[in-house]
Amino acid sequence: MIELDRVNKWFGPLHVLRDVSLAVKERERVVVCGPSGSGKSTMIRCINRLEQHQEGRIVVDGIELTDDLRNIDAIRREVGMVFQSFNLFPHLTILENLTLAPIWVRKMPKKEAEELAMTYLARVKIPEQAHKYPGQLSGGQQQRVAIARALCMRPKIMLFDEPTSALDPEMIKEVLDVMVELAESGMTMVVVTHEMGFARQVADRVVFMDRGEVIEVAPPTEFFGNPRSERLKLFLSQIL
Ligand code: ADP
Ligand code: MG
Repeated sequence: MIELDRVNKWFGPLHVLRDVSLAVKERERVVVCGPSGSGKSTMIRCINRLEQHQEGRIVVDGIELTDDLRNIDAIRREVGMVFQSFNLFPHLTILENLTLAPIWVRKMPKKEAEELAMTYLARVKIPEQAHKYPGQLSGGQQQRVAIARALCMRPKIMLFDEPTSALDPEMIKEVLDVMVELAESGMTMVVVTHEMGFARQVADRVVFMDRGEVIEVAPPTEFFGNPRSERLKLFLSQIL
Protein backbone atom coordinates (compact mmCIF):
# COMPACT_ATOMS: atom_id res chain seq x y z
CA MET A 1 0.00 0.00 0.00
CA ILE A 2 2.87 2.35 0.86
CA GLU A 3 6.42 1.95 -0.34
CA LEU A 4 9.35 4.18 0.47
CA ASP A 5 12.51 3.20 -1.31
CA ARG A 6 15.76 4.88 -0.25
CA VAL A 7 14.07 8.22 0.32
CA ASN A 8 16.29 11.20 1.02
CA LYS A 9 15.22 14.68 1.99
CA TRP A 10 17.03 17.83 2.93
CA PHE A 11 15.80 21.08 4.43
CA GLY A 12 18.50 23.36 3.01
CA PRO A 13 21.75 21.87 4.25
CA LEU A 14 19.98 19.69 6.84
CA HIS A 15 19.76 16.04 5.76
CA VAL A 16 16.53 14.94 7.49
CA LEU A 17 15.69 11.64 5.79
CA ARG A 18 18.59 9.34 5.05
CA ASP A 19 17.91 6.41 2.75
CA VAL A 20 14.58 5.70 4.41
CA SER A 21 13.02 2.48 3.14
CA LEU A 22 9.76 1.12 4.47
CA ALA A 23 6.91 -0.90 3.00
CA VAL A 24 3.45 -0.99 4.54
CA LYS A 25 0.97 -3.62 3.40
CA GLU A 26 -2.77 -3.21 3.10
CA ARG A 27 -4.45 -3.46 6.54
CA GLU A 28 -1.09 -3.25 8.26
CA ARG A 29 -0.60 -1.06 11.34
CA VAL A 30 2.83 0.49 11.70
CA VAL A 31 3.88 2.60 14.67
CA VAL A 32 6.82 4.98 14.27
CA CYS A 33 8.78 6.27 17.24
CA GLY A 34 12.09 7.96 17.88
CA PRO A 35 13.61 11.05 19.48
CA SER A 36 12.35 14.54 18.70
CA GLY A 37 13.85 15.81 15.45
CA SER A 38 14.56 12.33 14.06
CA GLY A 39 12.40 12.89 10.96
CA LYS A 40 9.19 11.07 11.90
CA SER A 41 6.85 13.92 10.92
CA THR A 42 8.80 14.64 7.77
CA MET A 43 8.57 11.01 6.72
CA ILE A 44 4.82 10.73 7.12
CA ARG A 45 4.27 14.16 5.59
CA CYS A 46 6.16 12.93 2.53
CA ILE A 47 3.66 10.07 2.20
CA ASN A 48 0.84 12.49 1.35
CA ARG A 49 3.13 15.05 -0.23
CA LEU A 50 2.81 17.73 2.43
CA GLU A 51 6.60 17.60 2.05
CA GLN A 52 8.59 16.67 -1.03
CA HIS A 53 11.43 14.20 -1.02
CA GLN A 54 14.40 14.85 -3.26
CA GLU A 55 15.78 11.36 -3.82
CA GLY A 56 14.30 7.89 -3.86
CA ARG A 57 10.80 6.68 -4.61
CA ILE A 58 7.51 6.86 -2.76
CA VAL A 59 4.61 4.82 -4.15
CA VAL A 60 1.19 4.92 -2.48
CA ASP A 61 -1.44 2.44 -3.64
CA GLY A 62 0.33 2.11 -6.97
CA ILE A 63 0.70 5.86 -7.53
CA GLU A 64 4.21 7.24 -7.54
CA LEU A 65 4.63 10.61 -5.84
CA THR A 66 6.19 12.94 -8.35
CA ASP A 67 5.61 16.57 -9.27
CA ASP A 68 2.59 15.48 -11.31
CA LEU A 69 -0.31 17.30 -9.66
CA ARG A 70 -2.80 14.66 -10.74
CA ASN A 71 -0.91 12.11 -8.69
CA ILE A 72 -0.83 14.38 -5.66
CA ASP A 73 -4.58 14.90 -5.95
CA ALA A 74 -5.16 11.17 -6.18
CA ILE A 75 -3.01 10.50 -3.13
CA ARG A 76 -4.66 13.16 -1.01
CA ARG A 77 -7.98 11.52 -1.77
CA GLU A 78 -6.77 8.17 -0.48
CA VAL A 79 -4.76 9.26 2.52
CA GLY A 80 -6.30 10.79 5.65
CA MET A 81 -4.13 12.59 8.15
CA VAL A 82 -4.54 13.51 11.80
CA PHE A 83 -2.14 15.95 13.41
CA GLN A 84 -1.10 16.75 16.94
CA SER A 85 -3.07 20.01 16.73
CA PHE A 86 -6.59 19.25 15.66
CA ASN A 87 -6.82 21.97 12.97
CA LEU A 88 -10.60 22.26 13.08
CA PHE A 89 -12.21 25.42 11.70
CA PRO A 90 -13.25 27.32 14.84
CA HIS A 91 -16.07 29.26 13.19
CA LEU A 92 -17.78 26.15 11.80
CA THR A 93 -19.84 23.66 13.77
CA ILE A 94 -18.56 20.12 14.19
CA LEU A 95 -21.00 18.95 11.52
CA GLU A 96 -19.88 21.71 9.14
CA ASN A 97 -16.23 20.81 9.76
CA LEU A 98 -17.02 17.24 8.77
CA THR A 99 -19.10 17.97 5.69
CA LEU A 100 -16.92 20.74 4.22
CA ALA A 101 -14.56 18.55 2.20
CA PRO A 102 -17.12 15.92 1.17
CA ILE A 103 -19.38 18.69 -0.19
CA TRP A 104 -16.73 20.89 -1.82
CA VAL A 105 -14.06 18.39 -2.82
CA ARG A 106 -16.14 15.27 -3.37
CA LYS A 107 -19.22 17.18 -4.64
CA MET A 108 -21.43 15.13 -2.36
CA PRO A 109 -25.01 16.34 -1.83
CA LYS A 110 -25.30 18.13 1.54
CA LYS A 111 -27.80 15.71 3.02
CA GLU A 112 -25.70 12.70 2.12
CA ALA A 113 -22.57 14.39 3.54
CA GLU A 114 -24.40 15.08 6.79
CA GLU A 115 -25.55 11.49 7.08
CA LEU A 116 -22.02 10.30 6.49
CA ALA A 117 -20.69 12.78 9.06
CA MET A 118 -23.19 11.58 11.66
CA THR A 119 -22.18 7.98 11.02
CA TYR A 120 -18.56 8.82 11.76
CA LEU A 121 -19.39 11.04 14.72
CA ALA A 122 -21.21 8.05 16.15
CA ARG A 123 -18.18 5.89 15.51
CA VAL A 124 -15.99 8.27 17.49
CA LYS A 125 -18.76 8.37 20.11
CA ILE A 126 -19.74 12.05 20.06
CA PRO A 127 -22.82 12.34 17.81
CA GLU A 128 -24.41 14.65 20.41
CA GLN A 129 -21.70 17.28 19.73
CA ALA A 130 -22.63 17.77 16.06
CA HIS A 131 -24.06 21.27 16.41
CA LYS A 132 -21.45 22.68 18.77
CA TYR A 133 -18.32 24.63 17.84
CA PRO A 134 -14.81 23.22 18.33
CA GLY A 135 -14.09 25.63 21.19
CA GLN A 136 -16.94 24.09 23.18
CA LEU A 137 -15.36 20.63 23.07
CA SER A 138 -12.54 19.14 25.12
CA GLY A 139 -9.21 18.40 23.45
CA GLY A 140 -9.98 14.69 23.35
CA GLN A 141 -13.34 15.34 21.73
CA GLN A 142 -11.79 17.70 19.18
CA GLN A 143 -9.21 15.11 18.24
CA ARG A 144 -11.97 12.53 17.77
CA VAL A 145 -13.73 15.02 15.50
CA ALA A 146 -10.50 15.40 13.54
CA ILE A 147 -10.36 11.61 13.11
CA ALA A 148 -14.02 11.52 12.01
CA ARG A 149 -13.36 14.36 9.58
CA ALA A 150 -10.53 12.43 7.95
CA LEU A 151 -12.71 9.30 7.77
CA CYS A 152 -15.49 11.24 6.00
CA MET A 153 -13.22 11.31 2.94
CA ARG A 154 -13.23 7.52 3.01
CA PRO A 155 -9.45 7.18 2.93
CA LYS A 156 -7.70 3.89 2.29
CA ILE A 157 -4.82 4.89 4.55
CA MET A 158 -4.74 6.91 7.76
CA LEU A 159 -1.62 8.72 8.94
CA PHE A 160 -1.39 9.99 12.52
CA ASP A 161 1.31 12.36 13.73
CA GLU A 162 1.47 12.28 17.53
CA PRO A 163 -2.32 12.50 17.83
CA THR A 164 -2.32 12.41 21.62
CA SER A 165 0.73 14.55 22.41
CA ALA A 166 -1.24 17.75 22.91
CA LEU A 167 -3.87 16.15 25.13
CA ASP A 168 -4.28 16.12 28.88
CA PRO A 169 -3.55 12.64 30.25
CA GLU A 170 -7.17 11.84 31.04
CA MET A 171 -8.15 12.40 27.40
CA ILE A 172 -5.48 10.26 25.80
CA LYS A 173 -7.33 7.00 26.29
CA GLU A 174 -10.55 8.11 24.59
CA VAL A 175 -8.57 8.99 21.46
CA LEU A 176 -6.48 5.82 21.56
CA ASP A 177 -9.66 3.75 21.98
CA VAL A 178 -11.01 5.21 18.74
CA MET A 179 -7.72 4.45 17.01
CA VAL A 180 -7.75 0.88 18.30
CA GLU A 181 -11.24 0.40 16.87
CA LEU A 182 -10.12 1.85 13.57
CA ALA A 183 -7.20 -0.57 13.52
CA GLU A 184 -9.55 -3.46 14.26
CA SER A 185 -11.76 -2.39 11.35
CA GLY A 186 -8.84 -3.15 9.02
CA MET A 187 -7.65 0.36 8.20
CA THR A 188 -4.08 0.65 6.94
CA MET A 189 -2.41 2.93 9.50
CA VAL A 190 0.92 4.62 10.08
CA VAL A 191 1.01 6.18 13.53
CA VAL A 192 3.77 8.33 14.97
CA THR A 193 3.39 8.05 18.71
CA HIS A 194 5.21 7.46 21.93
CA GLU A 195 2.22 5.61 23.39
CA MET A 196 3.96 2.30 23.69
CA GLY A 197 0.88 0.59 25.14
CA PHE A 198 -0.88 1.38 21.87
CA ALA A 199 2.10 0.07 19.90
CA ARG A 200 2.07 -3.22 21.83
CA GLN A 201 -1.67 -3.58 21.44
CA VAL A 202 -2.19 -2.81 17.77
CA ALA A 203 1.07 -2.51 15.84
CA ASP A 204 2.05 -5.22 13.42
CA ARG A 205 5.47 -3.62 13.31
CA VAL A 206 7.22 -0.82 15.17
CA VAL A 207 9.75 1.44 13.46
CA PHE A 208 12.50 3.27 15.33
CA MET A 209 13.95 6.35 13.67
CA ASP A 210 16.96 8.33 14.80
CA ARG A 211 18.66 11.24 13.04
CA GLY A 212 16.80 10.72 9.80
CA GLU A 213 17.43 7.00 9.58
CA VAL A 214 15.26 3.96 10.09
CA ILE A 215 17.34 2.11 12.66
CA GLU A 216 15.12 -0.82 13.53
CA VAL A 217 11.82 -2.36 12.39
CA ALA A 218 10.30 -5.28 14.28
CA PRO A 219 7.03 -6.71 15.61
CA PRO A 220 6.27 -5.25 19.07
CA THR A 221 7.28 -8.28 21.13
CA GLU A 222 10.70 -8.31 19.51
CA PHE A 223 10.99 -4.52 19.36
CA PHE A 224 10.40 -4.09 23.09
CA GLY A 225 11.66 -7.45 24.30
CA ASN A 226 14.81 -7.75 22.28
CA PRO A 227 15.98 -4.40 20.86
CA ARG A 228 19.15 -4.91 18.88
CA SER A 229 20.74 -1.48 18.46
CA GLU A 230 22.25 0.49 21.32
CA ARG A 231 20.35 3.56 20.17
CA LEU A 232 16.98 1.82 20.51
CA LYS A 233 17.92 0.35 23.91
CA LEU A 234 18.82 3.84 25.10
CA PHE A 235 15.59 5.31 23.69
CA LEU A 236 13.43 2.64 25.30
CA SER A 237 15.17 3.08 28.63
CA GLN A 238 14.27 6.78 28.49
CA ILE A 239 10.59 6.41 27.62
CA LEU A 240 9.46 3.20 29.33
P1 ADP B 1 10.25 14.59 14.41
O1 ADP B 1 8.85 14.57 13.90
O2 ADP B 1 10.87 13.23 14.52
O3 ADP B 1 10.39 15.35 15.69
P2 ADP B 1 10.76 16.30 12.15
O4 ADP B 1 10.47 15.49 10.95
O5 ADP B 1 9.73 17.28 12.56
O6 ADP B 1 11.16 15.35 13.34
O7 ADP B 1 12.09 17.13 11.92
C1 ADP B 1 13.28 16.53 11.43
C2 ADP B 1 14.33 17.61 11.30
O8 ADP B 1 13.95 18.50 10.26
C3 ADP B 1 14.50 18.47 12.54
O9 ADP B 1 15.87 18.79 12.66
C4 ADP B 1 13.68 19.69 12.24
O10 ADP B 1 14.18 20.81 12.93
C5 ADP B 1 13.85 19.84 10.75
N1 ADP B 1 12.70 20.45 10.08
C6 ADP B 1 11.42 20.01 10.11
N2 ADP B 1 10.63 20.76 9.34
C7 ADP B 1 11.42 21.72 8.80
C8 ADP B 1 11.19 22.80 7.89
N3 ADP B 1 9.98 23.05 7.37
N4 ADP B 1 12.26 23.58 7.56
C9 ADP B 1 13.48 23.32 8.07
N5 ADP B 1 13.77 22.31 8.90
C10 ADP B 1 12.75 21.51 9.27
MG1 MG C 1 7.11 15.29 14.73
